[in-house]
Amino acid sequence: MENQERENETQRAGRIFCIGRNYAEHIHELSNPVPERPVIFMKPATCLVRPGQDIHFPRHASELHHEVELVVKIGTMGRDIRKEDALTHVGAVTVGLDLTLRDLQKELKKKGLPWEMAKAFEQSAPAGDFIPCDETMDLHGLSFGCRVNGRQRQQGTAGDMIFSIEELIEHISRIWTLYPGDLIFTGTPAGVGPLEIGDTIEVHGDTIGSFSWRIIR
Ligand code: MG
Repeated sequence: MENQERENETQRAGRIFCIGRNYAEHIHELSNPVPERPVIFMKPATCLVRPGQDIHFPRHASELHHEVELVVKIGTMGRDIRKEDALTHVGAVTVGLDLTLRDLQKELKKKGLPWEMAKAFEQSAPAGDFIPCDETMDLHGLSFGCRVNGRQRQQGTAGDMIFSIEELIEHISRIWTLYPGDLIFTGTPAGVGPLEIGDTIEVHGDTIGSFSWRIIR
């Protein structure tokens, strides 16, 4: 992407909040404990990758995992948002990938160190085009997933989240004021797995559509 274009894209996006361990089956596949409150981490907006752009395989680790996630974009500013009102603050939704360097993440977790190098590296947040939504849209019923080279790898339904989108917004907005353009990656269902150079990954969601990226050297 040209620098100017990247700059514009970054200005449009706010912060990226990511939720870890939000689907029971995925927690079991990585042998993690079930959290008592949402696990939250962040990626800078410069990590975003638009649909169709190539993704360079990171050079600082070797096990690149896909985590397909429903992504909500905040439409209206709020602080201390009650979950009953949370959906009125959602402006748009899409499907994206919380790309993760699993080998490095395991090492960092073992040492009790921050996850940024494994989670918030360059191009770690591909996201599809956002489709506008309002509180009449059935976000909980949305199913979504990803395919690698045409093969289904992950499939999930938003209704299976441990902390619902409303609860996530309530929780996050107690800590940070949410602004229009902020994104929330809401966690991944089971089936995470490796990506190799040359792979094409496609994410898809009900009523959202599908978007794909190629992994290159
Ligand atoms: Mg994730």
